[in-house]
Amino acid sequence: MYKFKELPGQRYVLSLDNHVEIVEALTAFCLEKGILAGQVSGIGAINEATFRFLDPATKKYVDKTFAEQMEITNLTGNISQKDGKPYLHLHLTCSRRDYTCVGGHLLSARINGACELLVGTFPGVEIGRYPDPETGLNLYKF
Ligand code: FE
Repeated sequence: MYKFKELPGQRYVLSLDNHVEIVEALTAFCLEKGILAGQVSGIGAINEATFRFLDPATKKYVDKTFAEQMEITNLTGNISQKDGKPYLHLHLTCSRRDYTCVGGHLLSARINGACELLVGTFPGVEIGRYPDPETGLNLYKF
């Protein structure tokens, strides 16, 4: 699913395998390394991405899938924990063939080409999540 190289300070350079789903692969990596707090950034190429939009007025989620070849211009996000498991919060911006961009809160994305990530960990730091009734979001719990 991925190859990685460890850097000083418990940071990792990752190369995800072609055709894998990014959130799945990153979650598997966090489980393998026991990462429960950290940050993620990266670039790559995909042929499908599904985003989630939370309408603050209705607190309803609207999901949308873009099935086309796109370049990841930025993947950024954080790792915390919920129920003792890694909890990924990722946002993705990607560019289309015509160089316009789409993006948002990432649910899933399928690699078609490559995906290169940097994962930084916060060893010994506990950052949880709690469901916030006002926003409908799982907010940081410090
Ligand atoms: Fe988000």
